[in-house]
Amino acid sequence: MPYVRKAPRADTDRELTSTVLELVWRRQQVSRAEIARHTGRSRSTISEAVARLLDTGLVAEVGSGESRGGRRPILIGFQDEAGVILGVDIGATHVAVILTDLRGRTLAWRERPHPVRSDPKGADALITGLGEVCLHEWNGDRDRLMGIGVAVPSPVDPQSPDVVLDRVLPAWRGHGILDRLKSVFDVPVFVDNDANLGAVAEHWWGKAVGIDDFVYLKVATGVGAGLMIGGEIYRGATGVAGEIGHIAIDPNGPKCVCGNRGCLATFVGTRHLVERATALVPSHPDSALAGTEPDIRIIEDAALAGDELALRVVNEAAVHLGIVVAGVLNLMNPGSVIIGGSLARAGDRLLAPLREAVASRTLVASAAASEIRTSELGKRATALGAATHVLVAALDNPRLFPGVKSA
Ligand SMILES: [Zn+2]
Repeated sequence: MPYVRKAPRADTDRELTSTVLELVWRRQQVSRAEIARHTGRSRSTISEAVARLLDTGLVAEVGSGESRGGRRPILIGFQDEAGVILGVDIGATHVAVILTDLRGRTLAWRERPHPVRSDPKGADALITGLGEVCLHEWNGDRDRLMGIGVAVPSPVDPQSPDVVLDRVLPAWRGHGILDRLKSVFDVPVFVDNDANLGAVAEHWWGKAVGIDDFVYLKVATGVGAGLMIGGEIYRGATGVAGEIGHIAIDPNGPKCVCGNRGCLATFVGTRHLVERATALVPSHPDSALAGTEPDIRIIEDAALAGDELALRVVNEAAVHLGIVVAGVLNLMNPGSVIIGGSLARAGDRLLAPLREAVASRTLVASAAASEIRTSELGKRATALGAATHVLVAALDNPRLFPGVKSA
């Protein structure tokens, strides 16, 4: 769990509800006296706030705690299943939907390959269909669905999140998937960039719990970064911060879709790795990849088994990634760099050459302070981050929680 921070003084009822709810969520079980101490408010004010929250079902009296000399205090516990959230991961070639409780636990999960770019109508139907399947499998009270988070493989301008799909997926222009999700499920919909949401997932449930300054690098079809600074996602002026896949690492390199040459994505993106592996097969006839049509999973499995060709492909990717990671360390001095996306499965086979590449490129102190790791959240990370985005919004604005409208 993230740190329990000293709460700022809450001045309005909504702020107090938010502060109390977040404290109960973080501590999981806490007495009214502790809440009063933590918030600096009177016992009676806290008792009123807790009474309002007890009515919503989000918290409950769950037993008694240690006595501090007097009566044993009643503990207030957060009810993780009082609400559920759908997280949607829209990739370039797949869609995935997760249903979580309020502690990031998976209640249901579905993933399907789909030509998302060229078939918005089909993708749209698939996403709502998978959402329905997840809710059906969970089989709980539909009123507890409190929101939908959506991850998209493109920058998201917080000022106009709805136009985002148009830009990255031109075929989707005017298609209104976010509106459709809103009307089909009748809950608020939040959208953000997939790498940002990967960083959110790491910060709440993964390798970056307790780390407020870190970089999450999603290496998949494309390459993106979620930059967390001071516990908040850094978005830049118009939401484009973190488009690290289009940093040029070779001015004479191959042409990229963005118009630039030699972008990182052209060296470590899934398509390049598959093409590179295919091109190397004739010089490695004994490789496990010979006679296959390699995809990224096959390459990683072979690398994990020690296959020479696959290791060469992963090594080359690590060296190219290392150029940009060294730059990021110098720029941001993050506490940690977490590699996610499909390439993360290679684990130490990727990390060892990556650490070496970074060490050989930067001698400044920031490199020594940073840990480079691979994500362990697996392929659910992005959808989980999308769902967590809704939880974070609700902890800030409790009216998003079921039953809190009047609290
Ligand atoms: Zn590019």
